[in-house]
Amino acid sequence: MNNLNDLLLQVRKPARYIGGEWNAVKKEWTDDKVKALLAFPDVYEVGMSYLGLKILYGILNKRDDCLCERVFSPWPDFEEVLRKNNIEIFSLESRMPIKGFDIIGFSIAYELNYTNILNILDLGGIPIRSSERSDKDPLIIAGGPACFNPEPVAEFIDAFIIGDGEEAIEEIVEVYKGFRLRKSAFAFGLGGQAMADDHGSRKKLLKELAEIQGVYVPSFYAVEYNDDGTIKNFSPKEKDVPKKIKKRVVVDLDNSFYPANQLVPYIQIVHDRIMLEIMRGCKHACKFCQAGTTYRPRRERSKEKIIELAKESYSKTGYEEITLLSLSSGDHSKIREIIEELNEAFKDKAVSISVPSLRIEGVLSELPALIAQVKKTGLTFAPEAGRECLRKVINKNIDVEKLLNAAMESFKSGWRKVKLYFMIGLPTEKEEDLIAIPELLYKVSNLKRSLDKKPAHVTASINAFVPRPHTPFQLEAMENFDKLSEKKDLLKRSVRTKMIELDFHSFHMAYLEAVFARGDRRLSKVIYETWSKGARFDGWNDFFNFGLWSDSFKKAGLDPDFYAVRARKCDETLPWDFIDIGVVKSSP
Ligand code: SF4
Repeated sequence: MNNLNDLLLQVRKPARYIGGEWNAVKKEWTDDKVKALLAFPDVYEVGMSYLGLKILYGILNKRDDCLCERVFSPWPDFEEVLRKNNIEIFSLESRMPIKGFDIIGFSIAYELNYTNILNILDLGGIPIRSSERSDKDPLIIAGGPACFNPEPVAEFIDAFIIGDGEEAIEEIVEVYKGFRLRKSAFAFGLGGQAMADDHGSRKKLLKELAEIQGVYVPSFYAVEYNDDGTIKNFSPKEKDVPKKIKKRVVVDLDNSFYPANQLVPYIQIVHDRIMLEIMRGCKHACKFCQAGTTYRPRRERSKEKIIELAKESYSKTGYEEITLLSLSSGDHSKIREIIEELNEAFKDKAVSISVPSLRIEGVLSELPALIAQVKKTGLTFAPEAGRECLRKVINKNIDVEKLLNAAMESFKSGWRKVKLYFMIGLPTEKEEDLIAIPELLYKVSNLKRSLDKKPAHVTASINAFVPRPHTPFQLEAMENFDKLSEKKDLLKRSVRTKMIELDFHSFHMAYLEAVFARGDRRLSKVIYETWSKGARFDGWNDFFNFGLWSDSFKKAGLDPDFYAVRARKCDETLPWDFIDIGVVKSSP
C-alpha cells in the first residue's frame, strides 16, 4: 500500500482514509474472528459524528471473537483516485478491501445517503443487489433512523435491524458464527447433501437472521400492487418468517454499552466533542416527528451514570466539550442537577457543557445561566410554526411567552445568538401562520435592545414539512413546489434587517426525502439508475442534482408526485405497515 500513501497525497484531507486515530482499535486478522465493517454512507466528518457508529464499534471490538473496522464514503476526489488506479475501497484500520469482511453494516441516517451505499458496494467489488450475492460475499446489513421504512433500498440490503442495534448486532454475530462453521464443515466435505442443498447456504443464514426480533430480510417478502399503484398485498413468501417486524428496544440505558473511549480524529469533524447520550426517546408527541414515535419509550440514563461516564470519557479522550445528547435534553428529570454537577466537576479543566435540543419548559429559563457558566454558544429553539393555533395542530405546545423569557434570560447571561426552527407547508397552515414567523423573529431580536440598545442576531432555519412514516401525519400530502416557493417569497419580503437571517433548506431535497421516506421497493430501480448516472452525496448542496433524479423517475416509469404530494387514504396499505414500532397506526 505504499503506492496508496502516494495517491492519498493527491486528495483533500487524506486523514479521512488513514485511520489510526486515538482510541481506534486494530486487531489481528485471525480465522477465529468474525470480521465486521461499519460503513457510513457519507463523508468521514459526518460519519464520525454519529454516536450509533461509535457504540457499535465499541460493542463489536469488545468481543474476543470479533473485530470491527470502519469505512466512509470517499469524497469524489478520492473516488476518482480509486477508480483510476483500480483500487478497491478498504477499511481504515487494516486497509483491508471491504469485500474481505464477513459482515458489512451500513448506518442509514437519512434518505439522501442512499446512492452512497451503492457507491461503497461498487467500489468494494461487491454485487450491488442482494439477489446477485453469493456465499462468498459479505452479509450486507443496515440500521439507523431511515430504516423505519426500509423498502426503497430493499433490493440492496440483505437484512435490516429495525430499532436499537446494541443487542441485535451481537445476536447477528452469533448467528453468523454458526453459518461460518457450517460453511467450513461443507468446505471440508462434511455435512453431506443436506448441507450442500441448504444448511451451509446464505439463504439458511438469512432465515436464521429473520428469526431475530427486529431483523427484516426483504427478500423473504413479496409485494403486489393495485392498478392505481398502491399496494395490494405485502406478505411473507417464506414459511416461518414473521408477518410483522417488531422494533428492538434497549430497555436499560444505564446498563447498555456506552463508548467512553470515543475515537478522537486527526481532523475536525462535525461534532468534535464527547457525545454523552443522557436519554433515548421523547415524552412529547409532535405530530410531524418520526424520532418522537420510533424511539419510544423514553428512557433516562441516571444522573450518577452520566457523571461517571462524563469523567471517564474526558480522561480517555481529552475532549474539552461534552454534549448532553438526547431528543429533548431539557426533559431529563435531573437535567439541572446534572449540569450543576458537571460544571462543578469540570470547572478547573475548562471543559464546556452543551445541551442541544432544549424545549421551552419551566426549567429552560434557568438553563442558559447554568450552561453559560462555562460556555456561551448559540441557543436554539424549535417553535416550528408561527402561531399558537397551528402549533396546537402539530402538537408542538410551546408557550411564546416562555420562549421570549428564555431568550431574554440567555441574552442577560451573555448569549448573543439565537436560532429558531420552523416548518412551512404544514397541514392546515394559513397565510397568518406564515406572517407570524417574521413577527416572532423581530420580537426575539428586539428583546436585547432593552439590555444594550442593539438587536440580537436571530437565524430562522426553515424547512418544508415532509410527511414521515409512523407519525400521525403519515397520510398527509407534502405541499407542492409552487406553493412552497410562494410562501418562501412571502417570508423573504417580510424581513428587512440583516440581524434576521432566513435559512431555507432546499425544497428539492425535501421533496426527494418525502418520496423516499414513504416510498416502496419499486424505487430501488430509481436509486440504482441515478447512482449509475453519477449521483453521490445527494444531501450536499454542491453535489445534489435534481435533474438526474427526474430523468431516472421517467426512465423507471414512476411518478415522484405519487409518493410525495399524494395524501394517502386511511385504508391504504402503506409500505411500512409491516413494521411494528409499538404504536397503533393513526391518522391526524
Ligand atoms: S420534535 Fe422534538 S420534542 Fe417533539 S416529539 Fe420530536 S423530539 Fe420530541
